[in-house]
Amino acid sequence: KVVTRFAPSPTGFLHVGGARTAMFSWAYARANGGEFILRIEDTDKARSTPEATKAIIADMKWLGLDWDQGPAPGSCDSCHGDADWDPYAEQKGENGPYFQSQRGELYEAAIKKLFDMGRAYYCFKTAEELDAARKAARAAKKPYQYDPADMLALNADEDALKAKLDSGDKHVVRFKMPDHDVVVNDEILGEVVVKAAELEDFIIVKADGGPTFHLANVVDDAAMGVTLVMRAQEHLNNTPKHVALFEALGLKLPKFAHIPLIFNSDGSKMSKRDKGKAARAAAKDAKLESVEGIDDELFKGFMDKKNDEMVVSIAIAKQLGLALPEIDVADFRDSGYLPEVLNNYLALLGWSPGNDIERFGADPLTFIKDHFTLERVGKSAAKFDRDKLAKFNTEAVVMLEPEDFKARLKKHLETHYPEYGSILANEAHFDAFCKANQERSRSLDEPAKGGMFFVSDEVKYDFKPKNIKKAIMKNEGEGFVMLARLKDAFSELPEEGFGDAAHEWIAKTAEEEGLNMGKMAQPIRVAVSGGTVTPPIDATLNILGKAKTLARFEACIA
Ligand code: GLU
Repeated sequence: KVVTRFAPSPTGFLHVGGARTAMFSWAYARANGGEFILRIEDTDKARSTPEATKAIIADMKWLGLDWDQGPAPGSCDSCHGDADWDPYAEQKGENGPYFQSQRGELYEAAIKKLFDMGRAYYCFKTAEELDAARKAARAAKKPYQYDPADMLALNADEDALKAKLDSGDKHVVRFKMPDHDVVVNDEILGEVVVKAAELEDFIIVKADGGPTFHLANVVDDAAMGVTLVMRAQEHLNNTPKHVALFEALGLKLPKFAHIPLIFNSDGSKMSKRDKGKAARAAAKDAKLESVEGIDDELFKGFMDKKNDEMVVSIAIAKQLGLALPEIDVADFRDSGYLPEVLNNYLALLGWSPGNDIERFGADPLTFIKDHFTLERVGKSAAKFDRDKLAKFNTEAVVMLEPEDFKARLKKHLETHYPEYGSILANEAHFDAFCKANQERSRSLDEPAKGGMFFVSDEVKYDFKPKNIKKAIMKNEGEGFVMLARLKDAFSELPEEGFGDAAHEWIAKTAEEEGLNMGKMAQPIRVAVSGGTVTPPIDATLNILGKAKTLARFEACIA
């Protein structure tokens, strides 16, 4: 039976690369009637957090990826990773627990076994010593020659070893690599051979006594009966190590499939650091000396690339009104992308169903699982095309059933825009808001941002921009004259159905006086929103209401 797994390290949010790996592993299991496992690789105690685990789980749920074994967040229906539940509490599946931090005994048994067969040894070389050796080699313009004999020497002398261990000196445990070449038979890349001379004895127990990723990963894939390990090509370097470990431990080797890397359009590898990079560049352009709410030291360190703190990036972005590039699944969700659009687009990064099909319909996950094969996964890097993704999203938003659009927009507003409480509380207003926006929205966030004037207390006017000048200042300010007239006329209109009545009045007046409706509509837009783009006038004024509309006319004229 086919068993695949997604094995994230909970050291940060789920990024699009991880989401794609999860999706492909999921699709392969589903396409082959197999099982899909979610395993949390939290061996890095310092960097792993339960919050990250929760966020990863919430993001996978938001994407619609389900798993047969792993944490069982039955009670969590929050899509934002902040619900009040304990990710460790409930788990499902016969191969649990699914957190590596809870599987220590298995790793210890494997380590003991490796010691017993002479394939593990203590190593007292410090990181500094190894660094120095590497540096020396570089200085001598020679490749660094790793010398296992050197490290093994101590292990050969039992008394010396015991004394050293008893002295409490820092040490790690290394795995002794085989002296033959290691072959990885990759399902996508074919045969990858690593020469014996290039194989380094790698660490399996860290200085803190915990197992490394390599050891835990192999032990768990074997213990959980994983038949296909799918992960990104950046792990290809690790796989020979893993193959050697499988062999040494006498464990059944799974199949391996390494999927292509994801690149930005500028050819750089897409990475979490892109956000910091964008913020740094913008701060430099704006010649920022400090940022509000951020310690000067921290900010300096960030600018000198000594740290990549997210809080700094966010503070810079806020101060400069800059949108950071979306990298994490949560970023795309916050920007108002639909999960099915992200699924559809991510699947195209390295896979295709053939026949140039790019749009997988309203339920892309089902389409993907029905068509997924490894033969159609590519070898070369995939380009992340943000414009194409945005285009997919625009199409999908327009196509949503109006009720569906409404429900999703409501959730988006509730989550990110508490200001919209009053509109959400008024069924008719929210209905009008949705109707007015759906066709013009590229995302769920666009109507939210574009409609802020509905919920703000007042509008700030700036008549300098060209479009606004044109709308209201032209011909000696005829727009202002028009507004004064509209103000008088509209004050006679009823409050109930105000927008419809106002629209009727405009249409009638335009007809009678042979005026272009825009002559009235554009000044109104400027007056109520400060800009020249709003939903249709009737809907806009219905939502805004009579009192607010007239007050804004007044404020604008003044
Ligand atoms: N914890 C590893 C990672 O997040 C998993 C690699 C694998 O899938 O084997 O990169």
